[in-house]
Amino acid sequence: MAVCMNCGKKTGMRNPEYYLDSDMTQVLCGECYKKLAHFQIKSDENDIQKFDETFKLIQMEMEEHTFNDETKTAINRYLQKRRAKIERNILDEKKKYIDLSNMNTHLLTTGYNFEGYEISAYLGVISGQSALGSGAFSGWSAAANNFLGTESSYFGNRLIEAKESATRELIISSLMKGGNAIIGIDFDYIIIEGLITVIANGTSVITTKK
Ligand SMILES: [Zn+2]
Repeated sequence: MAVCMNCGKKTGMRNPEYYLDSDMTQVLCGECYKKLAHFQIKSDENDIQKFDETFKLIQMEMEEHTFNDETKTAINRYLQKRRAKIERNILDEKKKYIDLSNMNTHLLTTGYNFEGYEISAYLGVISGQSALGSGAFSGWSAAANNFLGTESSYFGNRLIEAKESATRELIISSLMKGGNAIIGIDFDYIIIEGLITVIANGTSVITTKK
C-alpha cells in the first residue's frame, strides 16, 4: 500500500499503484493513472515522432485533470527516460548498417588537423555519450575517501571506461556521417537522472593523405 503523489489517496486492491521511478518512491494511484489515457498506450519503441505526439497529449491530459507540479515533473522524467530509450533503439538500428571495422582506423585529435593529412570535408558536429552506471556512486564515495590517499580509485577506472565508451559512440556518429576522422574532441561531464554521464563532442571530417 502506498499513497498517490497526485491525489493523496491510499492505493490498494481496488486502487492499484503505478510506480514512476525505479526506486518506487513516486506512486500514482489507479484512479489518477486512468485519467491519462495516452500514458497507458504502449508506444512504438522505434518511432520518436509518434512518441513526441503522445508526449504532448499526456501534457494536455495532465493539465485537463489539474495534476500537481510534483506529479507532472515525475511523469515527465519517466517519459524522458522512455524517449532516451527509443533514441538508443534507433541508434542501435542504424549501427547495423555501418561498417564497424573502420572504427580502429578512424583518426582522432583534440586539435584541428593531422600531420601529413589534409581535411577535404567538414561533416558537422557530433557527440557520443556514456553513463557511468548506477554503481558509480558507491565508487564515488570510495573515490572521495581516497582522494588524498595514494590508492587510485575504482571511480577513476569507471571514468576511463565511460570515456572510452563515449569515444566509441562518437566514432560511430562520425562513420554514420561518412567521415574518416574527428577533430576538436573534448569531453563534458554532466549528471543525467542521477548518473554521471560523459559526453564526447567533436567534428566529423574527411581527411586525405597529402
Ligand atoms: Zn491518485
